[in-house]
Amino acid sequence: MNIALISHDQKKDEMVRFAAAYEPVLSQHRLYSTGTTGERVMKETDLHIHRFQSGPLGGDQQIGSMIAENNMDLILFFKDPLTAQPHEPDISALLRLCDVYKIPLATNIATAEVLIKGLDRGDLAWRDLVKDKEGKLHE
Ligand code: PGA
Repeated sequence: MNIALISHDQKKDEMVRFAAAYEPVLSQHRLYSTGTTGERVMKETDLHIHRFQSGPLGGDQQIGSMIAENNMDLILFFKDPLTAQPHEPDISALLRLCDVYKIPLATNIATAEVLIKGLDRGDLAWRDLVKDKEGKLHE
């Protein structure tokens, strides 16, 4: 599965702890992230992550383009609801695309835990069927 990790600044410590706690599960998948989130997680775990641009510089849009190509299977996005983000339109666009393409999305750690446990149990295997059936625009 292709999994995206994104966290706003106030949630980055939480994301690092989450990624460390679920490293055995996450390490079995291809990981993508916005720039700073990936940098922090890679520094503090042994996970390898393909880092896109930082969120405010277009990273959310790059992850959105993978969704639009049917090439992203799970988004774990630890949002900060208490701080205004300069790239709010990009964030809204990313969340919208998750709904357009029916991509499992967590916007807080509580939901992320449920989804990652489901992932580990095979609950998201239907994504492989969807990709086989509908195809990916790009590998
Ligand atoms: P960052 O981007 O990981 O580069 O900080 C996250 C965001 O703010 O969307």
